Amino acid sequence: MLDDIFRYIDEHADEFVQDVVRLCQQPSISAQGVGLQETAELVARMLEEAGATAEILPVVGGPPVVRGALSGRAGPTLLFYNHYDVQPPDPLEEWQSPPFQPRVAEGKIVARGASDNKGNLAARLAALKAWRAVHGELPASVIFCIEGEEEVGSPHFLRFLQEHRDRFAADVCLNEGFGVNSRGQLQIILGAKGLVYVELEVQGPALDVHSSWATVIPNPAWRLVWALSTLKGPDDRILIEGFYDDVRLPSAAELAALEQIPPEDAVARQVYGVSRLVNDVTGVDFWRKHLLEPTCNICGLVSGYTGAGAKTITPRTARAKLDFRLVPDQRPDDILQKLRRHLDRHGFSDVILTGALEGEPPARTPPDHPFVGLCAEVAEQVYGVPPVIMPTMAATVPMAQLRETLGVPVADAGVGYPDNRIHAPNEHIRIADYLTGIKYLVVLLDRLPSLRTR
Ligand SMILES: [Zn+2]
Repeated sequence: MLDDIFRYIDEHADEFVQDVVRLCQQPSISAQGVGLQETAELVARMLEEAGATAEILPVVGGPPVVRGALSGRAGPTLLFYNHYDVQPPDPLEEWQSPPFQPRVAEGKIVARGASDNKGNLAARLAALKAWRAVHGELPASVIFCIEGEEEVGSPHFLRFLQEHRDRFAADVCLNEGFGVNSRGQLQIILGAKGLVYVELEVQGPALDVHSSWATVIPNPAWRLVWALSTLKGPDDRILIEGFYDDVRLPSAAELAALEQIPPEDAVARQVYGVSRLVNDVTGVDFWRKHLLEPTCNICGLVSGYTGAGAKTITPRTARAKLDFRLVPDQRPDDILQKLRRHLDRHGFSDVILTGALEGEPPARTPPDHPFVGLCAEVAEQVYGVPPVIMPTMAATVPMAQLRETLGVPVADAGVGYPDNRIHAPNEHIRIADYLTGIKYLVVLLDRLPSLRTR
């Protein structure tokens, strides 16, 4: 029975590739407010073409959420979370082809959003299309929740979800979609880190001053550098008072899961072109640090003159953008308060915190949940190798919103692979991964009713 549908997927591969192309041709840059309404409308049309009903639901203060629904037989209801927005494509000169003119070549689809997250959305639509074409009614009902500002931290998503809780009620949830690791094992990701994003600003003289005045005019760039240097030590330990207070100790099941993840420290060094990793972590220590520890990261730092040649000034302002990735049970508002208190205590009350986003809390689903067991069985069947259960991802997606507001277990499956360059120039997916990802979804749909008896 699954052979028929697998054959259908292979025979319709070109059509399914074109679905990704169609989505990626439409820019949808949430950071710049570009093309969001148009993309929501395109997504709604594509949901309808896949046989689902589609609604574009307004979001107060942000781009709309697209809800799709398709009822099936008696199985548990599966919620797909995806997002239709993408990261800005910059730096444009590093793209080998224009980011919003998808290039299909050498077994890949290259475009901004190809992996994050339009390829994953297209795979889910393709799974529905294939199932309906071959077998008709779905074995279980599905609901889509497709938001438009994930890439800027989903600032309005929690409130939206709280207000529309009953419209997205489901038994289980698949998150936006990640992919296989370097050994071809599907990574089933059970959690996400939280996020606090904040800007630090120091104001200096009323104008840029001739640098001979550096004798007596305080330099805001130095103030900022000194303030930043109090936040973290060279051993990577974050020094903000109380920062680690709410970090939950990992469970035995989570630690056991870490032991089974193949080492990727060498891959990380190679892919990102660095000769060493922080604290030279390897093996399980790499995973423990990468997945279970919070961060304090400088995303951007700017002050004074940075153009060609010399310009001798004492600048008027200095600014840094920071992000903190949080782990359970740290809370964004609490971390922001602790940062403010830390700066004040260390004599940096002149450092202004601006641009703080509402932040996102972290969340994890336990590795021993029955839905996780089902996802793992299906992955081994389709990929031919056991999956890797990741207790969490190192990045942030609105998983806490889904998990806490809807009370569902959240797992993950996707069409990416480690070198797919999400958020970077030449983002792409491999078509083979994409097709396998569609097959995984149809088998999962097929097996979903068995969850009732587990
Ligand atoms: Zn992203």
